[in-house]
Amino acid sequence: MSFWTAYAAAERLPEELGIAADEAWAASAAERAHFEQQAQRHSLQVLSAFRRHHVSETDLLPSSGYGYHDQGRDKLEAIYAAVFGAEAALVRPQIVSGTHAISLMLFGCLRPGDELLVATGDPYDSLHGLLGLVPGTRGSLAEWGVTCRIVPWPERGLPDPATVAAAIGPQTRAVFLQRSRGYSQRPTIPVRHLGELIAAVQQTRPDIYCLVDNCYGEFVEDIEPGHVGADLVAGSLIKNPGGGLATTGGYVAGRLELVERAAACLTAPGVGREIGPVTGSLKREFFQGLLLAPAHVGQALQGAAFAAHFFAMLGLPTDPGPGGWRGDLIQAVATGSREGLIRFCQGLQAAAPIDSYVQPEPWAMPGYEHEVIMAAGTFTQGSTMELSADGPLRPPYTAYMQGGLQAVGVAAACLHAAAAMAAGGVLPTRRPANAAATADNGEGGR
Ligand SMILES: *Cc1c(COP(=O)(O)O)cnc(C)c1O
Repeated sequence: MSFWTAYAAAERLPEELGIAADEAWAASAAERAHFEQQAQRHSLQVLSAFRRHHVSETDLLPSSGYGYHDQGRDKLEAIYAAVFGAEAALVRPQIVSGTHAISLMLFGCLRPGDELLVATGDPYDSLHGLLGLVPGTRGSLAEWGVTCRIVPWPERGLPDPATVAAAIGPQTRAVFLQRSRGYSQRPTIPVRHLGELIAAVQQTRPDIYCLVDNCYGEFVEDIEPGHVGADLVAGSLIKNPGGGLATTGGYVAGRLELVERAAACLTAPGVGREIGPVTGSLKREFFQGLLLAPAHVGQALQGAAFAAHFFAMLGLPTDPGPGGWRGDLIQAVATGSREGLIRFCQGLQAAAPIDSYVQPEPWAMPGYEHEVIMAAGTFTQGSTMELSADGPLRPPYTAYMQGGLQAVGVAAACLHAAAAMAAGGVLPTRRPANAAATADNGEGGR
């Protein structure tokens, strides 16, 4: 008996799911090998940056109070800068989320009267308030007299450099680029294409800042936006770069002057990044998390590659599809029905290391048009470096799954999700077809 068939038998899951999993594991072998090798390359790059910066045991110890002369924190930030192709970085537990990091990036660079040009279509949900797209949001960029204009995502393919450059207006001070698709129906942007957009902006107006939302993208490709000219990037430590070990935190990385501007927003002008303690075990988490991040991102990607094959074999459209290009951690699976999505999330939750006995239910989350359901059995609340899944209860009832520190754990969770669907009679009969999970996305960036 093969590995997954044996697992299915041991867990009393339908035998055909075990057989499908064995086939999907074999079918995803080349992709998994690719992500494994890429993780190894990135791991060595991070390790070498640790050595160059002489990380010592005392650098892992906490600082307190103002956090002046925190050498460990400074080394950590220098390593982030090196890894992300930046001059400097701000890596802090006081940055509480990805949205907060992006907020620091924008408030650092924009002043009243400036315009922010969003070049990548409708931005990630949590940014709408910040950008002034939700009227009345207290403290938004709009309240500070910064306007925001969105270049719509094109009908086909990726944002066109010439179109973005042509959209620049006299007040445009910064161009915002969201690398990951997030939970929208558009492809993730390859870093090299971000480079083309940045080059077009800089040829038109060299004084404009190119700011990148790097959430979910770190260590997925061979290069980072900083390597193709991004002026500043921002992200969350409970996603990729925290490696699943960081229990909080965020970062910005880029040109020194702009990192200092963001630091002035985080603490206060004049003291900037000189202060800010890193207490408790956070510095150890940040260092060790970064060291392990490439490997853990690699595991999540290998799990996602398996999931795309597995669910497609079971007749559920997946995006990226089997063998499809990946630029972030997100895997969409169109479950096809309300009951299917609910059971998918419940099955996935049942396979988690934490809270496996809890049954997620749909709820009317404030700010969302439709009910949503979320599965997350994670060590860190809301961590999407760890395996989690969620989706709005509307057709095609797409489950967005991401993360996972172990590819085998992701694969096992897929089996349990499919088994929960089968038990409810909402798994289509097996067929080898695949279509894009979300209606209009066939480009995948490549
Ligand atoms: C997660 C995410 C954010 C916001 O991060 P939070 O930590 O949830 O605030 C912004 N943009 C993208 C593309 C993301 O994936």
